Amino acid sequence: MPNQDACRHAEILDNADPLRALRAKFLIPRHGDRDQLYFCGNSLGLQPRGARAHVEEVLDKWAHEAVEGHFTGQAQWMPYHELVREPLARVVGAEPLEVVAMNSLTANLHLLMVSFYRPTCERPAILMEAGAFPSDRYALESQVRFHGFDPARDLIELEPDEADGTFSMAAIASAIERHGPRLALVLWPGVQYRTGQAFDLGDIARLAHAQGAIAGFDLAHAAGNLPLRLHDDNADFAVWCHYKYLNSGPGAVAGAFVHARHAHTTRPRFAGWWGHEQTTRFQMGPQFEPSAGADGWQLSNPPILGLAPLRASLELFDEVGMTALREKSVRLTDYLDASIRAHLADVLSIVTPAQAERRGCQLSLRVHGGRARGRELFEYLGARGILGDWREPDVIRISPAPLYNRYADVAGFVDAVEGWRDGR
Ligand SMILES: *Cc1c(COP(=O)(O)O)cnc(C)c1O
Repeated sequence: MPNQDACRHAEILDNADPLRALRAKFLIPRHGDRDQLYFCGNSLGLQPRGARAHVEEVLDKWAHEAVEGHFTGQAQWMPYHELVREPLARVVGAEPLEVVAMNSLTANLHLLMVSFYRPTCERPAILMEAGAFPSDRYALESQVRFHGFDPARDLIELEPDEADGTFSMAAIASAIERHGPRLALVLWPGVQYRTGQAFDLGDIARLAHAQGAIAGFDLAHAAGNLPLRLHDDNADFAVWCHYKYLNSGPGAVAGAFVHARHAHTTRPRFAGWWGHEQTTRFQMGPQFEPSAGADGWQLSNPPILGLAPLRASLELFDEVGMTALREKSVRLTDYLDASIRAHLADVLSIVTPAQAERRGCQLSLRVHGGRARGRELFEYLGARGILGDWREPDVIRISPAPLYNRYADVAGFVDAVEGWRDGR
């Protein structure tokens, strides 16, 4: 029997939710005759209903105006990336000059490391977290090698010091201090993808800077999930993608941040024509003069079709604001956390830290009994239209996204896991 009390309680919470109307602005995949319980916004966010109109606008403009679409009418393509600049800056807590939407996450990580990872014999090393998302590790390792250094020595991967693979701030601080004189770069996640742990970026930047190192951040799981203050936190650079919590579609154009104090840097960079100062770009001169700020790292004219859904997504973020979104997110994830502790403690343990300030919306749940049991539960849920995602060897990640998930979705997940445990 589904737990009637829990369902009613969730319904009351949904009715009292000031953001409940936002769900209708998304397309929720169906499972039979009802909505999926979709908890995969950490992997691919759902489609905002407004995305199609923005994409069709580009297709129509291309059909009717062709090359002139760059310079004529609404939403001209030449300055198209400027349409997302200010809302994006609000999402990540930056000045407009500091952000740009371009390329993909890993490409941006490489491009910004070209400028901000400048190893020397005295200071060759990068500090990152052990167990990082593989693309980040590949990028960092290949950069160390590219500069002729040895990743075995100069790519320092800090092991988690807490049970279940999370990090204490003390361990991060002591690693930065211990390796300080050799550190060229500290590259840290805003939210760790596997555990869902959130970090204090301001603290990490301060510690890195105190040792003379650059502070760079991968915000793939933090952008659109937590309120960020990249400018005030003094990050040197940051990169993120827009297909996770920013709901801009598979492979969406990614984001990059470069702090205003580097807006006119003379550091080396890999240049392309779209990074050239706009006012003189079309004089097509041989000499590269970078645009001020993050724009100066652009290479190519951007994929306008890829940028279009980001506009729709950012309209929603502007409508709500990160503060209200985070308020709901804390409540929704706390509700999931409390329900698991109350009803499922014999089935699941929560890997993600318990304090709100140490996590975003995602909870990583270790299934008791090992991999086979975990897979069984994961498939049981999938067959019922309940989508989380699987991380080897025994973790299910569940991310209630405050823009479109309901308390009822969380209650439905908890009820289904109880059903699996009780063999109903
Ligand atoms: C999702 C994610 C990526 C994916 O990289 P792409 O270049 O967008 O394919 C990389 N790093 C982290 C930490 C991620 O969470």
